[in-house]
Amino acid sequence: MNLNAPLTIALSKGRILEQTLPLLAHAGIAPLEDPETSRKLILGTSNPQVKFVIIRASDVPTYVQYGAADLGVSGKDVLLEHGGEGLYEPLDLGIARCRLMVAGLPDTPVPTSRRLRIATKYVHSAERYFAAKGQQVEIIKLYGSMELAPLVGLADLIVDLVESGNTLKANGLVALEHIADISSRLVVNKASWKMKHESVSALLESLREAVGK
Ligand code: ATP
Ligand code: MG
Repeated sequence: MNLNAPLTIALSKGRILEQTLPLLAHAGIAPLEDPETSRKLILGTSNPQVKFVIIRASDVPTYVQYGAADLGVSGKDVLLEHGGEGLYEPLDLGIARCRLMVAGLPDTPVPTSRRLRIATKYVHSAERYFAAKGQQVEIIKLYGSMELAPLVGLADLIVDLVESGNTLKANGLVALEHIADISSRLVVNKASWKMKHESVSALLESLREAVGK
């Protein structure tokens, strides 16, 4: 792919990188070093106009919002938390699919003397979901291992991503309510969309083709 403007793409290690690399390969873009093992945070690619920045999944929308990266690949869960300011979200890549769900112990009693406590990394999504149901809840922000919270009495319920349900099951929890279907999206900085439109749309079309396959 011939690009007339340099493009920086923000990616995160793990499942998103693993599932995005084949899509980028379709566009003739392959990293010059293995991003999973390299300690470099900026990686060149087989296309001299394209480089990758390797960052935390939850930081991708921020890098793209501020134009530190022109494009990025981000889970919808992360985008829902971020709010999507300064970003276009032109393509669902259909990868890293899972569901954002409410889960808990079976037969969780509804507390009568206090608000329901919800442990989650997804504070905004959880707040929005329970507010829309007219339910007053107390959100407890955690950074991981949400499944533990109901087991040790930290929270009544959790809001977390569920793929197979195996992690819930292993901890005696069940999925209770569906909040949103999640997959990874291509995000584009709004200024890059305008200023580098030819290059951005060439890459977008090539990815669209790869996703359609
Ligand atoms: P961070 O490093 O910012 O804490 P993370 O540890 O959550 O991010 P991953 O676990 O690799 O990073 O998740 C990255 C993205 O992959 C998530 O934002 C989500 O969109 C998707 N994802 C997470 N868990 C699953 C899952 N079990 N099945 C499918 N997709 C998932
Ligand atoms: Mg994780």
